[in-house]
Order: sequence, then structure tokens, then C-alpha cells
Amino acid sequence: MNWQDVLTKNGFRISGPRRHVMQLLESTTQPMTPLEIYQALSQSGCLLGMVSVYRALELLAQLGLVCVVYNPDGSAGYVAGVGGHHHHIVCQNCHQAIAFAGSEDLSSLIQRVEKETKFKVSDHLLQLYGICPDCQKILTDTLEEK
Ligand SMILES: [Zn+2]
Ligand SMILES: [Zn+2]
Repeated sequence: MNWQDVLTKNGFRISGPRRHVMQLLESTTQPMTPLEIYQALSQSGCLLGMVSVYRALELLAQLGLVCVVYNPDGSAGYVAGVGGHHHHIVCQNCHQAIAFAGSEDLSSLIQRVEKETKFKVSDHLLQLYGICPDCQKILTDTLEEK
């Protein structure tokens, strides 16, 4: 199901702000902060206010159409969602965020934490950092030149 259908099915209009924000995020794998989204849209001649950007992001996140990803510097950016339960791995060099599926892989960790803390775990937030294949190559080349 595409994002247009998700909005319509949940009773929301495909308004200008929602469409502009989704189209922008779908065009990149780099997480964008609300300010960056606002600036990119302004530059392409789309005059949306910051409040409209925030409101659109809030709704799109609620519907799972966009996800929050944390950049290596700790700032929160948004990426287009891929649907289903998934996590992101973020490149520490170029900041691109790639989604990967899965939750079962955490079950042994969750079991251990429940045992240790007597909590009932109901949700989790997981994100991995690393160096993407492109940057591994660039970084290796740079090292060899030295
Ligand atoms: Zn990279
Ligand atoms: Zn998970």
C-alpha cells in the first residue's frame, strides 16, 4: 500500500504539506530534520511554514509513513517508512539510513532483560550505526593514499 492509500484509508486528505514532505523524504536515504525539510522545500519554491512541516511529520509518523532516525550527532531526522516492523542502520560517515526487518533477533536479549529487571518489555527502540559499503571503499582508498 502506498502512502496516498494509507492517508486516504485512515480518513486523511492528501494535502499539499503531506504530499510535499512525503515526496521529498522518498527522494533521499538521508534522514532530514524538520528544519532541513523546511529549507529544501523553500528552495524548490514550495512555501510551507515550519508549523505545517511539523504537523505533516507528526501525522505521517503516527501512520508509520515516516520514521525518526538519530544521526550520529544525536539530531533526529526523518526518513520515509518502509512498512512493517523494521529498524535502521545509519552510516556514520555519509549519514544514509537503510532499513532492515526483524524483531525475533531481539527476543533472547528481551528475555534476559525481563529476567534481570522483572519488567515486562512491551516495546523497543533499536538503531545501529556503522560504515556503509560505499564509505568503506572511500575510507580504504583514502588510507591507502596516505
Ligand atoms: Zn556511508
Ligand atoms: Zn524491533
